[in-house]
Amino acid sequence: MNIILLGPPGAGKGTQARHLVETRGMVQLSTGDMLRDAKASGSDMGKKVSAIMEAGQLVTDEIVIGLIEERLNAEQGAGFIFDGFPRTLAQADALAALLAKLGQSLHTVIEMRVDDEALVARITGRFTCGSCGEVYHDKTKPTAVEGTCDNCGSTELKRRADDNENSLRTRLMEYYKKTSPLIGYYYAKGDLRPVNGLAEIDEVKASIGAILG
Ligand code: ADP
Ligand code: ADP
Ligand code: ZN
Repeated sequence: MNIILLGPPGAGKGTQARHLVETRGMVQLSTGDMLRDAKASGSDMGKKVSAIMEAGQLVTDEIVIGLIEERLNAEQGAGFIFDGFPRTLAQADALAALLAKLGQSLHTVIEMRVDDEALVARITGRFTCGSCGEVYHDKTKPTAVEGTCDNCGSTELKRRADDNENSLRTRLMEYYKKTSPLIGYYYAKGDLRPVNGLAEIDEVKASIGAILG
C-alpha cells in the first residue's frame, strides 16, 4: 500500500509518517530529509540546494524526482509513504510513471488540513532529534527530560534553518501556488481522503488508521 501525505509545511506529515513506519513497517520517503542529508554530506547537489531550501523555495523537479527514483529502486517494505513529495504536478506525474514501472500504484492520498494561523506556531516550535529523527514541539510535544530525546536518549536536539516566520511565508506561498493544485488533481482521480490535522497527534493517528484500515 503506497500513500501520499499531502499538506502545508507543519501540517504533521513527518510525525504521522514516523508513526506509520513504527506500527506498519512502511517506508518513509521524505524528500525534505533526503535534501537535508545531501546538504549535511557537503555534496555538490547539497551545496546547490542549500540556499534555496533556507529561503523556503522549492528545489527543481529534476533533483527531487531523481532522489525518489533512487530510493524506490533501493527500498522494500510494506508500502511507501511519500512525505513532502510530490509538490508539483510534474512531480505527481513522474511519481505515477515511476510506480507504474515497478508494477505498483497509489492507494490513498491523505490530505492533512490545518489552518494557516496554526502553522506558524507549529513551525516555530519544532525541533528534532539529530540521532533518531524523532519530531518534537516546544508546547505540543516536548521531551520528558529537557534536552534529551525520549526515543533514543540523544542530547543532539536541533532546529531547522528554515523554521522561522520569514521562510515559512515563502514556503506557504510556494505551497499555495505549486502544491495545492494537487488536492484537485488527486480528488479528481478519486484518491483523496482529508483528515483534520488540527486535532491532537493521537487523534490524527486514529483518523489515518481508520482510513488505511
Ligand atoms: P516541511 O516539513 O516543512 O513540509 P520539508 O522538510 O518537506 O518541509 O521540505 C523542506 C524544504 O526542502 C522545502 O522548503 C523545499 O525547499 C525542499 N523540498 C522538499 N521536498 C521537495 C519537493 N518535493 N520538491 C521541491 N522542493 C522540496
Ligand atoms: P510536517 O512534516 O508536515 O512539516 P511535522 O510532523 O514536522 O510537520 O510537525 C510540525 C510540528 O508540529 C512539530 O513540532 C510537531 O511536533 C508538531 N505537531 C505535529 N502534529 C501535531 C498535532 N496534531 N498537534 C500539535 N502539534 C503537532
Ligand atoms: Zn532520538
